[in-house]
Amino acid sequence: MRRWCLAMLALMCASAAQAAGGALPASVSQGGLIVGKLPGLAHATVGGKPVRVGADGILVFGAGRDDQGPLLVNLAYRDGRRETVRIAVAPRDWPTERVNGVPPKTVNPPPDLAARIRREQAEVAAARNRDDDREDFLAGFAWPVHGRISGRFGSQRIYNGDPKAPHPGMDIAVPQGTPVQAPADGIVTFARPGLYLTGGTVLLDHGYGLSSSFLHLSRLDVKAGQRVHRGEVLGAAGMTGRATGPHVHWGINWFGVRLDPLLLPGIAKP
Ligand code: ZN
Repeated sequence: MRRWCLAMLALMCASAAQAAGGALPASVSQGGLIVGKLPGLAHATVGGKPVRVGADGILVFGAGRDDQGPLLVNLAYRDGRRETVRIAVAPRDWPTERVNGVPPKTVNPPPDLAARIRREQAEVAAARNRDDDREDFLAGFAWPVHGRISGRFGSQRIYNGDPKAPHPGMDIAVPQGTPVQAPADGIVTFARPGLYLTGGTVLLDHGYGLSSSFLHLSRLDVKAGQRVHRGEVLGAAGMTGRATGPHVHWGINWFGVRLDPLLLPGIAKP
């Protein structure tokens, strides 16, 4: 038994090291995440903006849905070496998704609610701007619930016939009340029921600006500031906010950049 556990541990460490990568890849898909490990790295910028570099040379960044690339990465090493890496961004075809039967007041909210919606979105954006040195993302990610994908990342959304912004995450259809589990370790940075568009909303910070969001929850089991581990229950699936049926919307952000959960290291393809 003990030997088996050690073997599993070695396997898990191997996959974590793989997720950490070695050199940076030559290309990334739109909506894709890059986790690099460059020993001796002291400082890095992506697109001219400084990014966190761990003592172990870990750095993290992503390509947005509409990023045309190449991503320009400037690297400075402790021994004085400097290098510029160009990472091509592979374009994707984005499907159109028609969502009908949405409560009309959530598609075009009444004007007197605009201030409330703006305030809620600003609070969520602030939670996503944390830059924490925890490396919780290194162990890879797991699905927060298991079910049919009812909405894909990046699709052009048409609600009740009205074109809206692209879908910023992945929808997984599950029965009302299904427990939603943390896909990786993290710190809860936001947990509130009743947001106008997203209903019961939980944000989980995995470190280095990478965060998960879980929307439309019917119940919250965690509080802001709480440390959670992978597999821990965050709340229950529901259909609060702009939703037509019970599902979990899982979003992944690198700061303000939306990424595709299906492209995360460790995520089993459906
Ligand atoms: Zn969604």
